[in-house]
Amino acid sequence: MALGTSRVGHQGFSVPAVVAGVSNMTEPEVAAGSAVAGTRTGHRVPISAGIVAAIASLTVALMVPWPTTVLAAQRTEKSTAVPVTMDWSRPVYYLPTNRRVVFITVDDGIDRRNRWLSLISSTRTPVVMFPTGEMVTPTPRYWKLAAALGIRVENHTVSHPDLRWLSRYDQRWQICHQSITVRAIAGRRATLFRAPYGAWSSTTMWAARSCGLKYVVQWDTVVDHGNISYARGGLQPGSIVLLHLRPDFELDLQVTLAAARQAGLTPALLTDYLR
Ligand SMILES: [Zn+2]
Repeated sequence: MALGTSRVGHQGFSVPAVVAGVSNMTEPEVAAGSAVAGTRTGHRVPISAGIVAAIASLTVALMVPWPTTVLAAQRTEKSTAVPVTMDWSRPVYYLPTNRRVVFITVDDGIDRRNRWLSLISSTRTPVVMFPTGEMVTPTPRYWKLAAALGIRVENHTVSHPDLRWLSRYDQRWQICHQSITVRAIAGRRATLFRAPYGAWSSTTMWAARSCGLKYVVQWDTVVDHGNISYARGGLQPGSIVLLHLRPDFELDLQVTLAAARQAGLTPALLTDYLR
């Protein structure tokens, strides 16, 4: 199934139908628990005493340190950003670029434990998260800490509906209201929108645009329970990878970083490229 023609995506916690043609594909070389590749990028952690203390406490909480030798990898310069003009007739599924970068995105937020933030922070992995409002509202401090650690927080609606079945008014409310929540916890406007289940309509595109979002961003790669599924035959330069914050997050992040390293790609922050 060609990307962009499907409007049905993942079922929340399963492999999305948007890559249905490859939903059973796994990458046998990427073994569960395989070596972890972290990369140092231009993704910087803000400096302040409180944040440094938070990072220190989280790092201490790491029971199994990840390899540090891989941290001396290449930097991603923000000046290398590829100009991408949003085509409002359809979402972005990957970035058309020859640059050796891959983008890691993490959705929802069912399992919110500090360990996930410390893993991301200690490996200096650039990550964009798309929590729903229902995952943010009960634990705003968690998301404020995520933002303080340099994790980019963007818009994934208030309550994770299949937007195709909602009215224009309700779609717009789901998106605009979540942008208010993102601003409250991240201190900045959301610029990216991701439709739940990868399900969207032309009304969704209109609603996201009218709420001031700059890009509607889906994915071309899914990592789920340690299995990786591709819509383009493998990780490619500019691939956008979908993970979820749930109990398998550490394994999924390890698999993602190992696959990126195997493909010779460096994780980069999606919002450095979509600005
Ligand atoms: Zn979701």
